[in-house]
Order: sequence, then C-alpha cells, then structure tokens
Amino acid sequence: MNYQPIKGTHDIYGQEIEKSQYIEELFSAVAELYAYRKIETPILEYTALFQRGTGESSDVVRKEMYTFLDKGERSLTLRPEMTAGIIRSIISNKLYADDLPIKLYSIGPCFRYERPQLGRYRQFKQFSVENLGSDSARTDAETVILAMQCLYMLGFKDLELKINTIGDKESRDAYREALKGYFSSKIDSMCEDCHQRLELNPLRILDCKVPEDQEIAKGAPKIKDYLSDASQDRFALTLSIINDLGIEYEVDDSLVRGLDYYSEMVFEIHAKGENGEDFGAIGGGGHYGGLSKELGGPDLAGVGFAFGLERVLSLADSLHLLDHIKAELDCYMIPMSEKVLNDSFNIVSELRGNGISVDSPLGVQKVGSGLKKAERKGAKFALILGEDELEKGVIQLKDLNKKEQIEVPLEEISEQIEELLEEKEHEHHCCHGDGECHCHDHEKEEE
Ligand code: AMP
Repeated sequence: MNYQPIKGTHDIYGQEIEKSQYIEELFSAVAELYAYRKIETPILEYTALFQRGTGESSDVVRKEMYTFLDKGERSLTLRPEMTAGIIRSIISNKLYADDLPIKLYSIGPCFRYERPQLGRYRQFKQFSVENLGSDSARTDAETVILAMQCLYMLGFKDLELKINTIGDKESRDAYREALKGYFSSKIDSMCEDCHQRLELNPLRILDCKVPEDQEIAKGAPKIKDYLSDASQDRFALTLSIINDLGIEYEVDDSLVRGLDYYSEMVFEIHAKGENGEDFGAIGGGGHYGGLSKELGGPDLAGVGFAFGLERVLSLADSLHLLDHIKAELDCYMIPMSEKVLNDSFNIVSELRGNGISVDSPLGVQKVGSGLKKAERKGAKFALILGEDELEKGVIQLKDLNKKEQIEVPLEEISEQIEELLEEKEHEHHCCHGDGECHCHDHEKEEE
C-alpha cells in the first residue's frame, strides 16, 4: 500500500519549516509588543462550542466541520477556527477574573472540509489574536493596526486593507429584515444553500460564492443605510485612528465576514504575489459583541483577527521576503581516520555543550566530500581533524564563506569559534559587508 497524504493536507519540511518558524516567531514578537500573551488550547472541542460560538448559519459550521463521535459517543470537532476555543478557555479558566482586557494570541492547525485549491487547504495553520473585555473603537483600531504591523514587519508593502462595519445588534436586525425583503422575491432562482441562508441568516447570502447569486447580491440593500448613530460614530473613530497612522484602507460595504459572531467593525487584508497570484485573503477579523455571553461567560466584548499562515508564507515567498531565511549550522566536523574518531566525538560534544551547533558523520570522511557536505548543510565553518593534527594538538578550522583556513590549538577551539561566530553575526547585522560600519562598537574602535 502506498500511503498518500490526505487531500487538502500537506507536509512542511526543508526550508519551508525555517520560513514558517520565522513567520510565527515574528508575528508572536509583534503581538508581544502590544502586550499579548500566548495561549494554547486543544484542537478538539465539543461540537456544540462551534455551533453556538462560530454560528449555526455560517458555512463553516453547516458544511465544513470535521465532526465525529468519540468512543464515548460524544460529538467532537477538530477546530475550524481559533476564536471560539480561546473564548471558551477564558471562560473555563475564569481568566476574566484578573485584569481586563485579556489579550491573547495563539498559533495552531485548523480544519475545514473545503474544496482544496490554491491557498485553500483542509488542514491549515492560523495565527490568531483575541482581545476580550475592552469595548471601544480604539481597541478595534489597535487590532487592525497590530495585524498590519505584523505584515509590515515581514516586509509586505502593498497590502489591501478592506474594512467595513456591520453595526450593533439593532442595526443588524434592521438590515436582516431589509435583506429578507430583497431576497425573498429572488430566492427561487438562487442556489439551495441560499434558501437555507435566507431562513437562518440572510446576511450569509452575501458570502455566497455562486456567480449568479453574487450578481443578485450586488443589488441588495447596503448595511450603511441601516446603521445606528452609535455604530456610525464608532466606525468613524476607528477609521480616523487608522488614517492618522497613515495606513491606507478601503471601506468595502459588501464585506460582512463569514462567521456569525461578528458585530461592528470587520476587516480583511489582501495582497498579491510577484506575478499577481491571489491566494485569497491573508487574514481577517473584527469585533464580536456577544460571543462570550453566548458561550456562558460574562458579557464582554471582544475583537480579534486570524492570519492563514500558509497564505502568508506563499505570498512572502513569492515576493522574496524570506530569501534570507535558511537553516543555520555553525560547524561541520570531518574526522579523517579511525584513530581520531573518539577525539572528534569529544570535541563535537564539547562544542555543543558550549552552545555551538555541530553536525558530523560518526565515521571517517574524506576532506573533499566532507567540505561539500558542510556547504550543502549551510555550515559556517568546517573542522578537519587528522592524525597529524591530533599529534600536534591542533585542528584545521575553515571559514566556508571566506574560504580561509587556520590551525587552532585544540584547547582553544571552542573559544575561537565563539569569537568568529560573534564577528559573523556582527558583520551580518551592522556592516552589511561594506566595511563602512557606524555601529557603537566600530565607532568606538575608530576613536
Ligand atoms: P476566517 O477564520 O475564515 O476568518 O479565516 C481567517 C484566515 O484564515 C483567512 O483569511 C485565510 O488566510 C485563512 N484560511 C481560512 N480558511 C482557510 C483554508 N481552508 N486554507 C488555508 N487558509 C485558510
């Protein structure tokens, strides 16, 4: 039997792993700049959590969940998104009893039974940020700014920020009625799903992907005509804060987002690859009013967003934002004969003990093929140990970038490599190889 990965899933390995780790670390660091802390919640939750939280009228819950009965006949679901689980965790652990707002971020796999295509998988990773307990236009704005800053720090420049408000409950109730009125006379020519959407939540008709239905939806009433004064003022303040920071946006009055818990401000971020590739929205989110209460917790408003990390990686790669990310290896040790194998093993252990990463074949290797292997592995230095060297108490140390080789006494090897690594790090960060460095250390040297 030849086992294949499950349709819509994919393995991540090689350079993709380094790149994806880099993105996760960078996004985490940006979230921490805004004083968010990490949370990990289970991938498996009771199905009812998503039915209540994510919303029964959403496509995700109606059609896309991986749901099954466990051996105890409990209905469980692989999370299709992160927000419901994070809010559940805040309630289960009474995190709201401490300081508000609660500011959390999380990274992990999500599962949706969707038709796999470019940028769309059945298992994908989300980076999710949630702020619970601060109901203000400023918090909404700060959340959008945090999302944009994550992408700017990764090197994205041409980002399309689409933003809209779907108003408070009063505004949405009035809007739903208007949509019901509009679609009722047209529903016979629309898809089966839209029949259900009309019953459950006519707002969801606006997410329909069927082109003919989208055409009909274009003529539908717009939310902006049903907004309460409070929702209008709130949105205007959010926009003015984003605007003051010089972040460009487009108010898109067709944006309603596919999950049921949203209220007030919603947003999505898009970008194109080098050759115009479109992987779909990189991320999206918004304010959610009633989710915590709906899940049995206190009545706290929240706001958050999620990025699809595969899409971020594909786009960043296409735009060459990650070309500098490679596997890192400090040294590759080449033992040239049987007689040096024990000493070579001990030197490698000593170097690792001092925090220097080393790879080595645990057997004899010819220098030529050893050097080639060291380069393939991206090692900064090769260490060559033969019987002559061992007798003299030295080792050959070759800088694989500069192609320079020096002989180093064995007892100094660790110290020597540490110094050279520090120099390389320094060159990488401040000299950029041009020799005209103005960093503190170099200026001091010149004085
Ligand atoms: P949502 O939870 O639907 O708002 O999705 C947030 C982000 O997750 C989207 O903007 C996408 O970047 C990503 N995403 C959602 N569904 C998928 C999928 N099936 N495959 C890959 N990424 C996805």
